[in-house]
Amino acid sequence: MAILKVARLGHPVLRQIAPPVEPEAIQGAEIQHLIDDMIETMREYDGIGIAAPQVHVSKQIAVIEAKGSRRYPDAPDIPLTVLINLEVTPLAPDLEDDWEGCLSLIDFRGKTPRYRQVRAKALDRQGHPVEFVATEFHARVLQHERDHLLGKVFIDRMPSFETLSYLSEFARYWNH
Ligand SMILES: [Zn+2]
Repeated sequence: MAILKVARLGHPVLRQIAPPVEPEAIQGAEIQHLIDDMIETMREYDGIGIAAPQVHVSKQIAVIEAKGSRRYPDAPDIPLTVLINLEVTPLAPDLEDDWEGCLSLIDFRGKTPRYRQVRAKALDRQGHPVEFVATEFHARVLQHERDHLLGKVFIDRMPSFETLSYLSEFARYWNH
């Protein structure tokens, strides 16, 4: 396994729409190694999700996991989940504003509206279909990762940049 270099905002790969993975390719060594490396990279940088475009691979693959994150100490636990060809559908129109960050905009936090409840559909790393409903923080993480597959980052979803903060100022003035 390897820790991969993370693309930062400004790299064109973050703005490309990632093509889906052919289901027959999922069990192959190339995709399996990529998934292992994405998991290791997410854990190394204390992320709670990473999408393949963030490691310079334009494919619809994301991994998420939250467990005692130093970057998000208040985050509820999310089990390790591999999501290939992820689709996220809102289940209700209500939006919730909360703080968001990203390994590709490593120094920033900003309040971002997201749907409170979504349905996620994807393939797992064996290529089996998975479908589940997620709420609040879990739903937010799924929408954030789905956006990466569409060439979007969280600041694109902020209606105003008034809350956009460097991490140290976020910790000092906002995190209470
Ligand atoms: Zn991100």
